[in-house]
Amino acid sequence: MILYGQQNISEQDIEAVSKVLTSSHLTQGNVGIAFEKKLSQICHAPYALAYCNATAALHASCLALGVNNQDIVWTSPISFVASANCALYCGATIDFVDIDSQSANMSVHALKNKLAIADRENKLPKVLIVVHMAGQSCDMAAIYQLTQQYDIKVIEDASHAIGGSYHNHPIGSCNYSDITIFSFHPVKIITTGEGGAALTQSGDLAKKLALYRSHGITREPELMTNKDEGPWYYQQIALGYNYRMTDIQAALGLSQLERLSYFIQRRNVLAKQYDKAFSNTQFQALTQMNGSTSSYHLYVIKNANWSQDQKVSLFNKMREKGIQVHVHYIPIHLQPYYQELGFALGDFPKAELYYQQALTLPMHTKLTNEQQQYIIRTLLDLG
Ligand SMILES: *Cc1c(COP(=O)(O)O)cnc(C)c1O
Repeated sequence: MILYGQQNISEQDIEAVSKVLTSSHLTQGNVGIAFEKKLSQICHAPYALAYCNATAALHASCLALGVNNQDIVWTSPISFVASANCALYCGATIDFVDIDSQSANMSVHALKNKLAIADRENKLPKVLIVVHMAGQSCDMAAIYQLTQQYDIKVIEDASHAIGGSYHNHPIGSCNYSDITIFSFHPVKIITTGEGGAALTQSGDLAKKLALYRSHGITREPELMTNKDEGPWYYQQIALGYNYRMTDIQAALGLSQLERLSYFIQRRNVLAKQYDKAFSNTQFQALTQMNGSTSSYHLYVIKNANWSQDQKVSLFNKMREKGIQVHVHYIPIHLQPYYQELGFALGDFPKAELYYQQALTLPMHTKLTNEQQQYIIRTLLDLG
């Protein structure tokens, strides 16, 4: 089976992990710190904190921004459920902003309208979580301008997007947001097995992100409520979690980062080849903004003519031919759990239409040109 996404592990990665296994620290050691430092350098953000996964990093980010059961959080319906679940973990109310059909990213136009209505009704969100779908940044300058106007905090769920850039800044720089999140799940751009990170420009947020990552415990005298009682002393000052990444994982991540530019370059070559093959056919690629480089976590094509039956049949035939096509994503508001919260079919029509039309083709750095040609031929034959 040609997988839709897959990790790329080198001998050097294996050596880096083995080295940690025979060292003194399997967790909370120097390799974890080195990984964070490298992330911070690559992404031009002063603070980077590694987590056990991106979901935990999203949760901690909501907590660091003070999200609680009085608050509203908005995100995109075309994302993995974790982008919305993190707000529910904090007891907040979740709502969605419809997408732009061409890019599948949050629509700036829909956001603007929804903000104006929410402002009149006094129901503005505390936090907006944007999702860089398939690896392409949302239009952050426009989004940030709107959120500044209403004093709303911004989290970039860049789970798909490490290595990409927007307006000449690496994604993760937080030039237009408070916090950026990455995922290092094996299907993503680089992997640590399970893993994630939160990046920020704010020293204050970085302290809170560290606090919620590790039980709400601090050793920093200025955060303590009373006097230090000795060198062993620490205080729990908030209810935190154990969301740390091990040094075993960090060693893999640090080694993978060395090949990040190669990974992005290869994914962009594959994307161009797909684009070329599908231009002037019934299939449309997601449109790419000027001034933006996608990391191409996913390669999605759309066919406006597909009925549900046709899509299911094509999906099954592609899989029979050994090609693991996929669909990203089932709109979050259509999940039974979210329907019980009151969302219904018809709430976000562009997201729902996109879901009918979209198909994910294999995209990863182990994909050969021959395999890609086979995928293209098979799809055009069956399409
Ligand atoms: C993968 C993913 C997540 C969750 O990442 P984990 O590291 O598996 O927790 C969150 N948001 C998006 C958009 C994702 O693709």
